[in-house]
Amino acid sequence: MADDTKRKYWVGFDLGGTKMMSIVFDNDLHILARDRKKTKGHEGVQAGMSRICDLIRETLQQAGIKSDELQGIGVGSPGPLDLNRGVILDTPNLGWKEAPLRKTLENAFGCPAAVINDVDAGVYGEYRAGGAKGARCVVGIFPGTGIGGGCVYDGQLIRGKTLSAFEIGHIPLMPDGPLCGCGNRGCLEAIASRLAISAAAAAAAYRGDAPHLMEEAGTDLREIRSGMLARAIEEGDDAIKRIVADAARWIGRGLACAVNLMAPDVVLLGGGLVEAMPKLFEKEVSRGLEDGVMAPFRGQYDLRLAKLGDDAGATGAAAWAQDSCKGEKGK
Ligand SMILES: [Zn+2]
Repeated sequence: MADDTKRKYWVGFDLGGTKMMSIVFDNDLHILARDRKKTKGHEGVQAGMSRICDLIRETLQQAGIKSDELQGIGVGSPGPLDLNRGVILDTPNLGWKEAPLRKTLENAFGCPAAVINDVDAGVYGEYRAGGAKGARCVVGIFPGTGIGGGCVYDGQLIRGKTLSAFEIGHIPLMPDGPLCGCGNRGCLEAIASRLAISAAAAAAAYRGDAPHLMEEAGTDLREIRSGMLARAIEEGDDAIKRIVADAARWIGRGLACAVNLMAPDVVLLGGGLVEAMPKLFEKEVSRGLEDGVMAPFRGQYDLRLAKLGDDAGATGAAAWAQDSCKGEKGK
């Protein structure tokens, strides 16, 4: 079906814990339509699959494209995933188990579908159309509630036989450090995620060391978002600046492990925290990297910021679907 000349459009889909986004692309990854919905994972797998299909249909309609003009669909999804079967095995933030994403989409739209890890999709999107375009090897990191990472090597997304790879957030950096959500101690994610930063920031606010943050957000972790941290720093909360800078330095140390292993020419930083405080992150991550990499690697990589923002995941998923259809990479 992929060689039908009418079929020249692609859908990239970014499935998140709270929001999902669908983008319709042409063959050159130009955007024709884009829309989002709340994910509402708590409604269950069946309802979730229907919402995904509905959102894709709505964006196709907006773009004026019929299902039979669609060449393929790519989805970036939180994991763990079975990449070969295109099944979401178990996602704590959606509450879904054994969600047959690929099959559902292929049945609903009559075209091939590919499912990849959400962070891999973001890194791949930046590699194909954003801040890491042209790299031979890119190591990407997206600090958020957790810390996700991905690596594209010589055009290929690094992945396992069935599982996704490059769990950079779970590099153990601090023996006997804080407990991580994965059950181990001292992972990068436990030290430097937005959750870890917000927890330290809330403690600083509680102690009276961060009056501006206290005024805007109080000490409730859930209220302390990236933008608020940025504003508190701008308004003079030095304790918050120090907390964010330390976390960013640790992120650099984690990235240094990946640089020593992969010798990337591009190291890519993205995600909401980085977008809110790009200069601080760039400076401190760079310092952490310089401290941690072996001497021959110093100056051999470009530290770059992601460019696609919220579109990165959907763009990468669509690009991945294109590659899967051409070279059967993702099957
Ligand atoms: Zn961990």
